[in-house]
Amino acid sequence: MELNQFSRGFAEFLDSEDPLNKYKKEFYVKDNVYYMDGNSLGLLSKRSEKTLLTLLESWKEYGIDGWTKGEYPWFYLSENLGVMCAPLVGANSNEVIITGSTTGNLHQLLATFYRPQGNRTKIVADELNFPSDLYAIQSQITLHGLSTAEHLVLVKSEDGQTINEDRVIEAMTDDVALVLLPSILYRSGQILDMEKLTKAAHERGILIGFDLCHSIGAIPHSLHEIGVDFAFWCNYKHLNGGPGAVAGLFVHENHLGKTPGLLGWFGSDKSKQFDLEIEMTPSTTVGAYQLGTPHILSLAPLYGSLELFNEVGINAIRDKSLKLTNYMITLIEHELNEYGFKFGNPVEEQARGGHIFLVHDEAARICKALKEQGVVPDFRAPNGIRLAPVALYSSYTDVWETVQILSAIMGDQTYKQFENHRDVIA
Ligand SMILES: *Cc1c(COP(=O)(O)O)cnc(C)c1O
Repeated sequence: MELNQFSRGFAEFLDSEDPLNKYKKEFYVKDNVYYMDGNSLGLLSKRSEKTLLTLLESWKEYGIDGWTKGEYPWFYLSENLGVMCAPLVGANSNEVIITGSTTGNLHQLLATFYRPQGNRTKIVADELNFPSDLYAIQSQITLHGLSTAEHLVLVKSEDGQTINEDRVIEAMTDDVALVLLPSILYRSGQILDMEKLTKAAHERGILIGFDLCHSIGAIPHSLHEIGVDFAFWCNYKHLNGGPGAVAGLFVHENHLGKTPGLLGWFGSDKSKQFDLEIEMTPSTTVGAYQLGTPHILSLAPLYGSLELFNEVGINAIRDKSLKLTNYMITLIEHELNEYGFKFGNPVEEQARGGHIFLVHDEAARICKALKEQGVVPDFRAPNGIRLAPVALYSSYTDVWETVQILSAIMGDQTYKQFENHRDVIA
């Protein structure tokens, strides 16, 4: 008997054929909860829990000697995690360091790479980027004594959801010093063509950096090969590093050896750091971009998480992620076509990141109704619903259930019991 492709039985069949299905049990996933928010905060894996407890134990056991003793000596954690993370961004192992926070790392990178000189004084960004990035850019321009109105060039979106790469390239004029873009837009999930944009920037003598918050752990990267100058990201979304996980940054080998814009003693050459000299000797690796003492307990879960990512491989993760979002799109088109939803995400695979973005005027209250029914989506003002089925812990059955619940909420209009505005955290 052939299964109806819209049936639950078909979803179960897809799960039975899925080579990554076995990883779901490595995570703390609740029964009857369909977690579609791993692009905001990834779930805890048992391996991450274990490495966190191991590091807590090393504090208990060794006190200050934990810096150099135990399974994961603290003094080398940021560097060692950088080596483990490098394959995920397509970097050499001396190009990635796990340090700081996303926004803090962007400040460090702008302090290093934004050097307005002569006619080249402007920064090109896009109006859809995450606001924190735009705030950081504005403050760095101001620190140079320049006006943001004149020096921040924001490329406009033509449809409110996506950015046309050709408009970005047109903005790369000879008064531009630096371009900063997301690899994947946080709302629509659009993937920008990093290779094309990097090539265009470099042909015009412009430096380019990317915010990988939504792409790390979701899609493969080749930062080194395509020659991206710098990149930065958080590790608590697709990478499941936990709330407030220490972030990451990449600086291309071509720029290593330069003195970073902001100095701190953890950026020292490790053999010199405890000489405590007045003149700093920066590390010759990307480690030079660190500032102070790393947040050891917020680095710890990443050991377990990166081990899992390296075991499965980012290509297998991307492959399943696309299958999950394709499946979700098919079900939504079939089940929800009468309810006024529009896809805000690109439909083409090469431009679609790890989530679906549904646009609907009642999005805020639909999200509240979904949550009440066990689906965890996330709302993005004013009218967007992000749904991220995650390759390592979402099943095809989870996607099927999510769409059924959404369909029921729309069919019987239960969402109307909720107010259509966001909560404090959306
Ligand atoms: C999540 C996210 C951030 C978060 O910045 P933090 O400093 O970690 O709070 C920044 N940029 C983008 C594009 C994001 O998606």
